Amino acid sequence: MFLSKRVMVTGGAGFIGSHLCEALLAQGAEVLCADNYFCSTKSNVEHLRDNPRFELLRHDVTFPLYVEVDEIYNLACPASPIHYQRDPVQTLKTSVHGAINMLGLAKRVRATILQASTSEVYGNPERHPQKEEYWGNVNPIGPRACYDEGKRAAECLFFDYHRQHRLRVKIARLFNTYGPRMHPNDGRVVSNFIVQALQGKDITIYGDGTQTRSFCYVSDMIRALMSLMNDTPDTFTGPLNLGNPEEFTILALATLIIDMTNSRSRIIFHPLPVDDPCRRRPDISLARENLRWTPEVPLREGLTSTIAYFEELFRRQ
Ligand code: UDP
Repeated sequence: MFLSKRVMVTGGAGFIGSHLCEALLAQGAEVLCADNYFCSTKSNVEHLRDNPRFELLRHDVTFPLYVEVDEIYNLACPASPIHYQRDPVQTLKTSVHGAINMLGLAKRVRATILQASTSEVYGNPERHPQKEEYWGNVNPIGPRACYDEGKRAAECLFFDYHRQHRLRVKIARLFNTYGPRMHPNDGRVVSNFIVQALQGKDITIYGDGTQTRSFCYVSDMIRALMSLMNDTPDTFTGPLNLGNPEEFTILALATLIIDMTNSRSRIIFHPLPVDDPCRRRPDISLARENLRWTPEVPLREGLTSTIAYFEELFRRQ
C-alpha cells in the first residue's frame, strides 16, 4: 500500500506557509499545518480544509509538540518588522525555543527538518551581493535584533543538532518574498505600496528610496523550499540563499506599482527606520548548482497577480 509522506508546516497558515501546504497536498503528502495565528489567518488555508489529507492545529512552537511526522518545515515566526517588533521577546522565543522544540521533535521521530532562515542574518551587509559564506553585519542590540539574532541562533541550533545528533537538517535563507495572501497590514513594502496605490493613499517611501531589495515571487520560493527538502542524495544542508537576484530600488518599485495600478497616489518620504539595510541582493549560485533552481517569475508578472489578489480582497470587504 502506498503511504503518503507526513509533513508538518509550522507557520502553515501564514503567507508562505499556506502556499507550501497547498503545494505539498498537490504532491500527495499528508499535511499538518501548525500555527498560533499571531500574524496569520485561518482564511489563508480555508480552501484546504476539505482535503482529507490536511489537518489544522492551533499550536505555538515555543511549547513542545508530540506528533509523528516524516518532514518538518519550520516557518513559524513573524517576519515583518512591525509584527516582530511588537513583542520582541516573544519573537526571540519563537525562533530559539521554537527551534529547540522542533529539533527535539525531529530528533525523536528522525524527521528531516528545514529551517526558514532569512537574509536578515546578513544584517546591513558590507558585501554585495551576499554569498552564504558571508557572516554578516548585525547590530546585536538594535530593534531588528530580536528577529536577526533569533534566526542566527536558530541556524546555530540546527547545525549543532546536525553535528551532535546526526539530524538531517536543511537551512534556507529566504530573501524578500511577495505574492497573494501577504497580509494587507503587515507593513512589507510590496503589500504597503499595492494597498496604498489601490486605495489612492500616499505611497510611503522610507528614506530617499535609493535602498534596494530583490523580490522573489512566492511560487518560485515554494519550488526551492521543496527541492531543498527533497534534495537527493540528501547531502546538502545549506545554508542556502533563496531569492530573486534582480535588484530594484524602493523608488523604482513604487513607480512601477503606481504605473501598474493606474493610481493617482503621490509618493511621500518618511524617515528611514533604524538599521534598515541599504542594499540587499542574494547570490544564488549555490542554489542554482545544488538544486538546479532559478527563479522564473519576473517582478511585473508577479506583481500582476499580487495586485489582482488585493483588488479581489478589497472587493469582498
Ligand atoms: N519600505 C518603504 N515603505 C513602506 C514599507 C517599507 O519604503 O511602506 C522600505 C523599508 O524601509 C525597506 C524596504 O522598503 O527599506 C523593504 O522593507 P520590508 O519591510 O518589505 O522588508 P525588509 O526591510 O525586511 O527587507
